[in-house]
Amino acid sequence: MESYKHILLAADFSEHGVTVADRAKDLAGKYQAKLSIVHVMDNLLITDAAYGSTIPFDLDLTAELMAVAKKRLATLAEKLNIAEDCRYMETGSPKLEIIRVAEENKVDLIVVGSHGRHGFALLLGSTANGVLHHAQCDVLAVRLHDE
Ligand code: AMP
Repeated sequence: MESYKHILLAADFSEHGVTVADRAKDLAGKYQAKLSIVHVMDNLLITDAAYGSTIPFDLDLTAELMAVAKKRLATLAEKLNIAEDCRYMETGSPKLEIIRVAEENKVDLIVVGSHGRHGFALLLGSTANGVLHHAQCDVLAVRLHDE
């Protein structure tokens, strides 16, 4: 059995994210694998019709959200010693983007949490579930427990 060479951590910045990040880091160390990180800004949050009347689609708002997300990604990546060229900030569907980044970068293990930020994710079906069913590589869903 070959060991993992490239592990991708899917980070949603939820309160349990640290547990998922720690597991990915630990595995990367054990397998001496490259560790990458991806965060996807879910553009449903800003374009969904339900918000049309209260939050107009606003390029400034999008840019602002993107800047905050990039900063959070950089902070977490630095904490985990992940090089800049291994940090992926994407927009779109988290499930699809996580899988795309994994495929394009020959990732052989994706690490996700068993759940994340709830809300829209719950309505649409969980990201973890989607990644698990559609990824071509192995997926580790780190079991997270609510306090
Ligand atoms: P969910 O299925 O949305 O409850 O989230 C489960 C896990 O999927 C989280 O613990 C993260 O590892 C990953 N995930 C969810 N949303 C995102 C996102 N926007 N960007 C990156 N990873 C995500």
